[in-house]
Amino acid sequence: MATKPWEVQAGGTGAATATQQEQLPSDAPQDMIDENDPRLVSESIEMNTDADAYAQPAPPPDAKYRAKLKLEGVDDGKGGKKDYGVKSTNKEPKILYYETRISCSILDPGGRYDGITVYPEFGGSVGTLVNREGASKISTILARIKRPDGEPWAKKGLRYTQKEWIDLFIKSLMGEPEIGIETQWQVSCQACGEEATARKKAGHEFRYPTTLKGMHRFPREKDPSKNKLGQLFDPEVVCQVSAGHGFSRAQARVVGFLSLDELKKNT
Ligand SMILES: [Zn+2]
Repeated sequence: MATKPWEVQAGGTGAATATQQEQLPSDAPQDMIDENDPRLVSESIEMNTDADAYAQPAPPPDAKYRAKLKLEGVDDGKGGKKDYGVKSTNKEPKILYYETRISCSILDPGGRYDGITVYPEFGGSVGTLVNREGASKISTILARIKRPDGEPWAKKGLRYTQKEWIDLFIKSLMGEPEIGIETQWQVSCQACGEEATARKKAGHEFRYPTTLKGMHRFPREKDPSKNKLGQLFDPEVVCQVSAGHGFSRAQARVVGFLSLDELKKNT
């Protein structure tokens, strides 16, 4: 999925939220519709003159949500996408594993956050790399989503090759299963990040910018009209290292997954 220049760059892979998509111009010709169509001329709408249609909505507040899991895949190196790719750890001993990318579409029927796409940290990357506890990101998700027959996709004691694990994961995402997600506002200064990358490339000492994590660490939103909409914190923060870098805007990242049963108990 190539991101068109006019699309909102949300998260690593880039996607417009549902509300933003609704407002994007349609490619379909509208010439066939009568200019005096009753949908246009018979219904009066009060437009909210206090609100600003150009204002970007704040990311959804840090919370637990029900969401649909979607496979984003990885670049195939030929301008297209494939389901997953091979990665290696940076440090010795190098370990090979499979990696893909996912997104989560919030389910909030009738609510403000319905259809908003959020990505897990690191651009939605998930893989078969196993941590000290013997868990991988994909086994964590597979244990928390259910097959159509109601059984979890991965039960305790399942022993597979990495190839079998990733194939099971890709298969499980075909039906866009539901899962609980925990989200967190995160921001780091892009200009600082670019400076660090340039210093690293040039062989100089460098430090990646710190990421501000957690909505409650952001400044209070002072605009009463936004407070009324439940927006209590301001996602825009100025760079702490160099004021010349200006403001960066928080993104909501997925920082944890829950089964729907765990989500019910937690909300
Ligand atoms: Zn900065």
